[in-house]
Amino acid sequence: MKPTWSTQQSLNYYLINKWGFPYFNINKNGNLICTPKGKSTHNIDIKQLIDNLIKNNINPPILVRFNDILKDRINIIHKNFYQSIKIYKYKGSYTFAMPIKVNQQKHVVKKILKYGKKYSLGLETGSKPEFIAAIFLQKKYPSIIICNGYKDKEYINIALNAQKTGLQTFLILDQFSELKQIIKTSKKLNIKPNLGLRAKLSNKSKGRWKGSSGDKSKFGLFAKEIIQTIKTIKKNKIITSLKLLHFHVGSQITSINSIQKSLKEAAQLYCNLRKMGCSDLQYIDVGGGLAVDYSGGKTNFHSSMNYSIQEYTNNIISTIQNICDKNKEPHPNIISESGRALSAHYTILIFNVLGCNSSRKTKLNIKEVTPIKKNPTILYTIWNIYKNINKKNFQDSFNNATLIKEESKILFNHGIIKLKTKAKVEDVYWKICKNIYKNKYKLNHISKYLKDLQKHLSNIYYCNFSIFQSIPDAWAIKHLFPVIPIHRLNEKPKKDVILADLTCDSDGKLDQFIGFKNVKNTLKLHPLNEQPYYLGAFSIGAYQEILGNLHNLFGNTNAIHITIKNNGNYYLDHITQGNSINKILSYLQYNNKQIIKSIKKITQKAIKTKKITIKEGFFLLKKFKNSLLGYTYLKKLQTKQEKEY
Ligand code: PLP
Repeated sequence: MKPTWSTQQSLNYYLINKWGFPYFNINKNGNLICTPKGKSTHNIDIKQLIDNLIKNNINPPILVRFNDILKDRINIIHKNFYQSIKIYKYKGSYTFAMPIKVNQQKHVVKKILKYGKKYSLGLETGSKPEFIAAIFLQKKYPSIIICNGYKDKEYINIALNAQKTGLQTFLILDQFSELKQIIKTSKKLNIKPNLGLRAKLSNKSKGRWKGSSGDKSKFGLFAKEIIQTIKTIKKNKIITSLKLLHFHVGSQITSINSIQKSLKEAAQLYCNLRKMGCSDLQYIDVGGGLAVDYSGGKTNFHSSMNYSIQEYTNNIISTIQNICDKNKEPHPNIISESGRALSAHYTILIFNVLGCNSSRKTKLNIKEVTPIKKNPTILYTIWNIYKNINKKNFQDSFNNATLIKEESKILFNHGIIKLKTKAKVEDVYWKICKNIYKNKYKLNHISKYLKDLQKHLSNIYYCNFSIFQSIPDAWAIKHLFPVIPIHRLNEKPKKDVILADLTCDSDGKLDQFIGFKNVKNTLKLHPLNEQPYYLGAFSIGAYQEILGNLHNLFGNTNAIHITIKNNGNYYLDHITQGNSINKILSYLQYNNKQIIKSIKKITQKAIKTKKITIKEGFFLLKKFKNSLLGYTYLKKLQTKQEKEY
């Protein structure tokens, strides 16, 4: 028999070749596979990987980090810059400074430094703790450290001392007021500081983080403050300390035009500063902002980007070159800090679906809802709407049915109708909605309300993860991440679904999904059956883990790092256990010994008053101690998934 749904159809529906190329594809078994080295034949069946992890007691939700994707992204960004330098015969060099705010975890940054060693990849820090972590991590991989962020006396002190010991630190002036302290401390330490200045560009960038640029941006120096800085450093005879001009116009810049405009302004500024006597100014740090095409749409929509990495690097190199050549100034060395573009792709989160709520789709029992003589009028009214629906009155029927449903709520609250009648009205209402939705293609025009019906009629799949912990941007700024099943991709996904997480929070849901040209309100998924059903959230390697919070105390998920060997096999080179309940509670100053002691007391009292037996008491204590050590997420997979109607 010919299959009714092909893996190609899944590739198209979930846009896998758009956002996931070249790392994700589907094999002939309908499982999602990852090719971490990009252009390689070695791949990993993600469903099989998860099954193996579960056999070894590593349960979902599991964060999977593909080290080879990280390596590939580092190579891609460097190769594109080197290629642009070659094409344009640019005379400066290129260095990548990884902004560690993307994910400061030791194992993550260490891997980045290891893979970036051949390019002398450096680090960018935005705070004292990040700077100290950077010094520690760089001991094996010496390169530049860009010290950004607001600075106090201590930050300045440690950065200058680090420079004195031979580290290649650049102290970036984020505020004019920092300059006085830098001059004072460097005089005291008898050191000529490696200075940079962050400019507040007037061009306002595009995208969600446009607040990082323009006159009202939080960081950087205005033109007047820049002039003041030059005067001050000249006066203090450290004009040659100024080595670097920095700007950052925001993350996820979706439009190349916006990048071009900022580059022009920055290059002019560089030439002006050199003409003002900053003869040692030799770097332009273009900050971050290189976007990730989360939706794969190649547009300037907020979760996409309308340019390629090569276009980005070409623009940087050629724009700066043009302006420098016109001004007869040397080409500066370029530094970039593209955290998102480097690290988003390599991390995915796999979680299981626990059950489904589809009460709105319950089959209507016609006999039960057909009004009989003594039924209240309201049931007759909605029943008549249902009976008389036709192509010409879809919109009116929907509007009237919605009114009646609202009315039934009021009548119930006033004690005029009974719960049974209210339930029947609602049943007929959903039946009306379903009929209209099913036939909506017959309409010439679909109103916004009818469009919203899809959302109302969708199923809710309850999932074993916390949006607040694992993809907080999906909640905080409605950022879109690809979410798709990791198996059954040779089966037609028939259900319109929204996803709810484990938290007791109505915001803990995903009801916006990537679409080719627009945002989808529901995602098509497979009906649940007896087998576990797994979904993956993709491209979540930038910012999500570190921004995640402890809402409902779920905490960190299990995390594994995977590396592919030359023969195509893979190995887990690091496993981080997710939070146990006692660990999470200890973050909040609960003492686990005290907790157990108090439970013991409660149990003893219950035994004494014969509420429970001694055996039950022992059992309860044992269970309690075990659960304190257990995973915060739902540990056991439900073998019998809740079946749908
Ligand atoms: N550099 C600075 C100064 C930043 O503030 C940021 C992030 O906001 C970045 C670099 C990284 O930006 P992105 O991850 O968009 O590349």
